[in-house]
Amino acid sequence: MSKRTLIIGAGGVGNVVSFKCAMNIDTFGEITLASRTLSKCDAIAKNVLKKTNIAIKTEKVDADSVNELVELINRVKPNIVINVALPYQDLTIMDASIECGVDYLDTANYEHPDSAKFEYKEQWARDESFKKSEIMGLLGSGFDPGVTNVFCAYAQKHYFDEIHTIDILDCNAGDHGYPFATNFNPEINLREVSAKGRYWQNGEWIETEPMEIMQVWDYPEIGERDSYLLYHEEMESLVKHIKGLKRIRFFMTFGESYLTHMKCLKNVGMLGIKEVEHKGMKIVPMEFLSTLLPDPASLGERTKGKTNIGIYAKGLKDGKERTIYIYQVSDHEKCYEEVMSQGVSYTTGVPAMIGAKLMLEGKWSGKGVFNMEEFDPDPFMEELMTQGLPWRVEEH
Ligand code: NDP
Repeated sequence: MSKRTLIIGAGGVGNVVSFKCAMNIDTFGEITLASRTLSKCDAIAKNVLKKTNIAIKTEKVDADSVNELVELINRVKPNIVINVALPYQDLTIMDASIECGVDYLDTANYEHPDSAKFEYKEQWARDESFKKSEIMGLLGSGFDPGVTNVFCAYAQKHYFDEIHTIDILDCNAGDHGYPFATNFNPEINLREVSAKGRYWQNGEWIETEPMEIMQVWDYPEIGERDSYLLYHEEMESLVKHIKGLKRIRFFMTFGESYLTHMKCLKNVGMLGIKEVEHKGMKIVPMEFLSTLLPDPASLGERTKGKTNIGIYAKGLKDGKERTIYIYQVSDHEKCYEEVMSQGVSYTTGVPAMIGAKLMLEGKWSGKGVFNMEEFDPDPFMEELMTQGLPWRVEEH
């Protein structure tokens, strides 16, 4: 029987997911793209049709409303809902999926609009309801989280008896030519990088000031880059699932110009997420800033350079110490050529499509809510090779 797929969110990532699902039409069947702004869905559908000759349907939905979502899901009758709206919508879309008995996938951890804190608590708490509805929820099927979790599971399966330390490295050496812009949703991005850092060591979380720890890492095909320790959501599930782990950290590269802008914006209060009064109106400074910054979806055409994201793992194999780096390099211009998006949207959208493909094909299955590293990494790693994100393993 032919499948039906519902994608929610028509941003940079939604664009890539729409293209990639259309390119794998035998698995995804009838595709519907729904979002808050119908014209954005229509613009994506037009480009997908032009480039792939596949027609996708479009719908308008407010994903903050469970009722609207339930009405849409009951009408479209999808086999899977791919959530690539914002982290604020995770819980409503999960609840609508439970009510309608349909499988669910997302790429980012739930975040409450009023507190810049990523946590799986509320999504994991829906595990029982997913089981009762006999559906599967796959959390964090982007690149980081997502591919980085799968890289860890792959290292655990094929390279180590015990992994002692993991450093997740995220380098974006792309240049879009603007003095300051973010590569994915500005609000989510700025909340993430301006928050306190955190890493896990010997069973405890250790908090740092924002950008307090810097280390220079040498990224294959890019070179040495200053990289800053941040908290990143995949660490919360990886500490539960990787055997023998003693420490896990996450580093992301930032250029001088980005950091100087960030510091200045923070100092003047533009990164605030609480309402302030302005000429009798209530505004949230971060939301206003987000309106001023370039739309990430518009960066595609102008971004040049590469991304390198990977995991650096150390541990034991057959009693001997071993260190490996598993990584993936993407080229922003090649991504744009293929699906009209820059590399950050591409490296998120392709794994979202792959996670959904494995679910629809029954290669990854289960009832309840899961993180990526809980499944056999091999079929996912094979798909990465052929769907546009080839990876390599280096022994150090
Ligand atoms: P964008 O801001 O470009 O797109 C988000 C889309 O969601 C927009 O089209 C927006 O609609 C829509 N949306 C927002 N609120 C609602 C709502 N209430 N109802 C319906 N639609 C809504 O973001 P990105 O595409 O860059 O990111 C998408 C997701 O991917 C985010 O959750 C982000 O955190 C995640 N991500 C994950 C990564 C990973 O590696 N795991 C990396 C990068 C991103 P409108 O345009 O009308 O505002």
